[in-house]
Amino acid sequence: MNKEKVKRILDVFDDMYPDAKCELIHRNELELLIAVMLSAQTTDASVNKLTAHLFEKYHTVEDYANAPLAQLESDLHTIGLYRNKAKNVKAMAEKLLADYHGVVPCDYDALQTLPGVGRKTANVVVSEGFQVPAIAVDTHVERISKRLGFAFKKDSVLTVEKKLQKAIPQERWIKTHHQMIFFGRYHCKSMNPSCQNCQLIDICKEPKRKKYL
Ligand code: SF4
Repeated sequence: MNKEKVKRILDVFDDMYPDAKCELIHRNELELLIAVMLSAQTTDASVNKLTAHLFEKYHTVEDYANAPLAQLESDLHTIGLYRNKAKNVKAMAEKLLADYHGVVPCDYDALQTLPGVGRKTANVVVSEGFQVPAIAVDTHVERISKRLGFAFKKDSVLTVEKKLQKAIPQERWIKTHHQMIFFGRYHCKSMNPSCQNCQLIDICKEPKRKKYL
């Protein structure tokens, strides 16, 4: 994608969502990591509802590592995939204690050694928790990238991430990541996007956009 087009898109994002930010409520890196792990295939609103209680009950890495699995499952049962998430949160806390002195690492590769932590989660934690430039590709970022022509429809999540990193200036990665999520969550939704008042319709590659007008 040429530089003018990228600038145009980023300007529209700035205009629409100047204050876009992470919507997962957290007070420290551990809570951020857990909230992101819990958010897989679940809305941020459901995670925030759950963590409002969870973070009052569990405070330290030890609290999660020492909790009986059945108890953690019960504490997470309001969100999807809760059994798997409980298992991963407990195993993640155990590994943090065993290998990282109980501290969430700020290193992308180290984060990915933790159970249940993949590329997307690691990217969110380094960028949101430690201000390390990164672009996490979730379902919204992938869809928007393909509709706006940063990537092709057939591209894998990893290819989308690399293409975004190449097209967008590094100092804009963190901000643009949040803006793309807002754009996807509130404007360019998967079903029924707001094409009728979209400032980017002329460059959009979504074949069905005319149907949405
Ligand atoms: Fe999304 Fe529609 Fe805008 Fe394309 S024209 S970016 S599909 S809202």
